[in-house]
Amino acid sequence: MKMQFPVEAFKGIETPFYYYDVELLQATLDAVKREAAKYEGFHVHYAIKANFNPRLLEIVNKAGIGADCVSGGEVRAALAAGIPADKVVFAGVGKTDKEIALSLDAGIFCFNVESVPEIEAIERLAAERGVVAQVAVRVNPNVGAHTHANITTGLAENKFGVNYEQLDGVIDVIESMPHIKLIGLHFHIGSQLLVMDDFIALCSRINELQELLMETRSLVLPHINVGGGLGIRYDFPDKYPIPDFEAYFATYANNLKLHPGQQLHFELGRSLVAQCGALITRATYIKSGTCKKFIIVDAGMNDLIRPALYEAYHRIENLMSTKADGVYDVVGPVCESSDVFCKDRRIPETQRGDILAIRSAGAYGEAMAFGYNCRELPKAVLSTDL
Ligand SMILES: *Cc1c(COP(=O)(O)O)cnc(C)c1O
Repeated sequence: MKMQFPVEAFKGIETPFYYYDVELLQATLDAVKREAAKYEGFHVHYAIKANFNPRLLEIVNKAGIGADCVSGGEVRAALAAGIPADKVVFAGVGKTDKEIALSLDAGIFCFNVESVPEIEAIERLAAERGVVAQVAVRVNPNVGAHTHANITTGLAENKFGVNYEQLDGVIDVIESMPHIKLIGLHFHIGSQLLVMDDFIALCSRINELQELLMETRSLVLPHINVGGGLGIRYDFPDKYPIPDFEAYFATYANNLKLHPGQQLHFELGRSLVAQCGALITRATYIKSGTCKKFIIVDAGMNDLIRPALYEAYHRIENLMSTKADGVYDVVGPVCESSDVFCKDRRIPETQRGDILAIRSAGAYGEAMAFGYNCRELPKAVLSTDL
């Protein structure tokens, strides 16, 4: 089930644009649902920040998957796509009063809280409304995810979550608040994790913590949320179009000691949407330097910032050339030296006007696009539009 590119149809469409293969998205959602359903009490939420395109959100909603949001705007996007409020969780270190208020008014399932002042703000706003807010404490497990430094989130030095030493005090604060109910613990250690070891390390930390809460407070919470982070194969998108959800859920089932009836929540972003999307671009010019050949394309870092921001690798394919490989730097038109998609890459000999696909761009692509240099935001085309 590899991604399909209708090149003839692309020829009539202005570039750059994001292209989404709905069949592959559907197959990915089917796979995650099927694998999670093998275990009792496993719930999948889609981390909307990976891609909040409203038409993709509707497909996610139809699959019966909940939402993980990190802003008030994302809570609104989830609700607009029809995702029921009782399947929405809201995380983030800087929730404003306005964002908390709209989430309370919508009646979301759970706030993943990250500090005492945030808990106080939720208590005040919930009291004003005469409601009780359900919260999970986001715990910083101090587990180092082996991924790019900009996308690890579970180390003591990161801004996210409450450290172990502070957890007891934070639970005391929550228990003193009449309009807040503690229902769970939340974790998220980072992104693009391909080896299961980091998830196993997270499971052991959670097991220790659960034992401690049992011993010291006789506390068993009904929900554990382990966040997201499952990676995808940027190097071989056609060989691995659907992530290994089977191994991922089995890792948790085998390593996490849940109490009877405890529900386990996952917040998967990248792994659900990355492989079904590609950024489609045209070669504007082929430029020969003294020591380099450049393919200058009409997509830039403003359309897909991952290479510039995280040194991310994306496969780049020429959809129109079957010639022998040349060696190229593929660069955008934006006035920044970091506007480079790849360097010294073997790509079939390319001509002005050829259409290229920058693969595995369905996650953190369109969602992170911006308008620098007065560039238009990239459009989105779904396979079902053609
Ligand atoms: C970003 C994020 C996720 C999703 O991460 P992926 O690596 O895309 O799966 C899940 N939970 C939280 C709290 C996040 O911030």
